[in-house]
Amino acid sequence: MIHKFDVVIVGAGGAGLRAAVEIPKEYSCAVISKVFPTRSHTGTAQGGVCAALSNEEEDSWLNHAFDTVKGSDYLGDQDAIEIMCQDAPRAIIELEHMGMPFSRTKEGKIAQRMFGGHTKPDDPNDPNSKRHSVKRACYSADRTGHVMLQTLYENCIKNNVNFFSEYFITDLIIEDGICKGLTAIDMATSEIHTFQAKAIMFATGGYGRVFRITSNAHVGTGDGCALVYNAGLPLEDMEFFQFHPTGLWRLGILVSEAARGEGGILRNNKHEPFMEVYAPTVKDLAPRDMVSRAIISEIRAGRGILGSDGTYYIDLDLTHLGKKVIDEKIPEITGFARTYLGVEPTKECVPIQPTAHYAMGGIPTNFDTEVLADNSGNKIKGFYAAGECACVSVHGGNRLGTNSLLDIVVFGRRGGKKISEYLKTAEEHTFNTDPADKTRELMNKLLVQTGNEKISVIRRELQENMMDKCGIFRNQADLEQMKVKIKELQQRYCSITILDKSKVFNTDLIETIELGNLLDIAESINESALNRTESRGAHTRVDFPKRDDAGWMKHSFIWKNTTGGDPKIGYKPVVVTQFQPMERKY
Ligand SMILES: Cc1cc2nc3c(=O)[nH]c(=O)nc-3n(C[C@H](O)[C@H](O)[C@H](O)COP(=O)(O)OP(=O)(O)OC[C@H]3O[C@@H](n4cnc5c(N)ncnc54)[C@H](O)[C@@H]3O)c2cc1C
Repeated sequence: MIHKFDVVIVGAGGAGLRAAVEIPKEYSCAVISKVFPTRSHTGTAQGGVCAALSNEEEDSWLNHAFDTVKGSDYLGDQDAIEIMCQDAPRAIIELEHMGMPFSRTKEGKIAQRMFGGHTKPDDPNDPNSKRHSVKRACYSADRTGHVMLQTLYENCIKNNVNFFSEYFITDLIIEDGICKGLTAIDMATSEIHTFQAKAIMFATGGYGRVFRITSNAHVGTGDGCALVYNAGLPLEDMEFFQFHPTGLWRLGILVSEAARGEGGILRNNKHEPFMEVYAPTVKDLAPRDMVSRAIISEIRAGRGILGSDGTYYIDLDLTHLGKKVIDEKIPEITGFARTYLGVEPTKECVPIQPTAHYAMGGIPTNFDTEVLADNSGNKIKGFYAAGECACVSVHGGNRLGTNSLLDIVVFGRRGGKKISEYLKTAEEHTFNTDPADKTRELMNKLLVQTGNEKISVIRRELQENMMDKCGIFRNQADLEQMKVKIKELQQRYCSITILDKSKVFNTDLIETIELGNLLDIAESINESALNRTESRGAHTRVDFPKRDDAGWMKHSFIWKNTTGGDPKIGYKPVVVTQFQPMERKY
């Protein structure tokens, strides 16, 4: 079946929906999602979305931009960061006007809380003075993403957006340098659908499922990035993957930074608050890469707390916050601790460990979300990407908490605007060949191939190895071993037998395709990590412990080698406007 639209957006998270809201009603717009739209991962975001609104204390977008650049370990492109931070207050007021129910101050203004790495100078007249944490994150208790997603979904319905829920995209059709459409499987029937459009946007989210312990939903398998990689296009900065310091021990379910923003403290096995050793000024509110490394360092130094299964964790102490703060400000996350670990956060510490959380790298775009064909700035006509799957890059080597919900609404909207402008003169395309062919071939191949391998076994091996060898601390020997492991798993992938041959909700088939995507993503992360011989942001090479601005203040681009050899790597300079690199101390 062939569908024709002016614009097709893949992904119904915040980025995709915000873009769809922006498309004028005279154009036809479809949003495709492999889950029901409001089940997209944006709905799980807890802590907040930041903007220098100055509702609780004086602040400025320049403070926000400085923090974002510093948080990115000077890898973020400063022109894009300036756009995002300057636009943030407008974006938040706009969400409020759309109907998003924010928590309020006593005066009825949008409430704001502290979050890691968000600071302002002690002396407002001297930007170089010492800095302290500032209340910049706008929130809705600890359900900020949930209310944002519901609000955007309602606004899409109002804007006559067509939804294709539980459709799984399998192919991106680029012919003659133009993005013409895509193919998808209707998961309910396994029927192949072709979507023809003048403009396509990918807003397919992250790929935390490449790691064993992750805060990401099961759908976070990087399908969009993998399709781009397989189409011979580059991915950018794939070595930078953020571990959030506080996932529930063994489960990875997120305990938002809001817990520390409200005053929570990390403690080791001596009940000592150790963060003051690692970040003397902002302590527990240091950026995530630093806190995650501090936790692992405490555990490695023998100061972790031994769990019942022989693994170690660290305590997150919320007991001093009192029942009122816990119940009103962080009800969801403390509920998770009760439900999943049987811990009562008003009386006991919550066992935590770092959890794979956010992809800084992804599909390279300019700040109007146009996808880049290479590292020289050429573009693919009609192709856009926004949100976590994209790399603008505003987060550089490490994202600050609450900057992603901001990124998705700011750049989702910019993408929607750019597409609307493009549609004024865009022509309808025709396909050179039957666009469904590749998906038909893929389905046939996977359903008939036989062997002794199981999806769950290969996935587990991939995730565990990525965690051990390509996680928070990395070194050459581990990364080389991981490279061999990925090659082995890619071989074994061809011997998976799909037992379910039926057409109705064949989740075995979908999971097999997702696993193939995870393997591609793992290859791009590992190879980029092996290549970058310095430590910056979330990428820590113990064999190259220093940041090397002379050699490495540049973005990496990686291309798949379609003939089976090693991927190709290239570079793009970082855009510096007003913030010169300096040592990152907190
Ligand atoms: C637990 C958790 C808490 C977080 N808390 C915060 C926070 O407080 N503040 C903050 O700023 N950030 C937070 N983040 C990060 C932030 O929520 C995400 O980065 C952001 O919401 C991603 O939005 P997105 O629109 O790019 O993608 P997503 O919301 O992940 O949506 C991706 C969409 O793509 C679709 N899709 C993917 N593959 C396919 C396919 N093959 N076919 C069809 N559809 C497909 C999915 O169905 C989905 O609709 C949190 C993240 C997590 C995991």
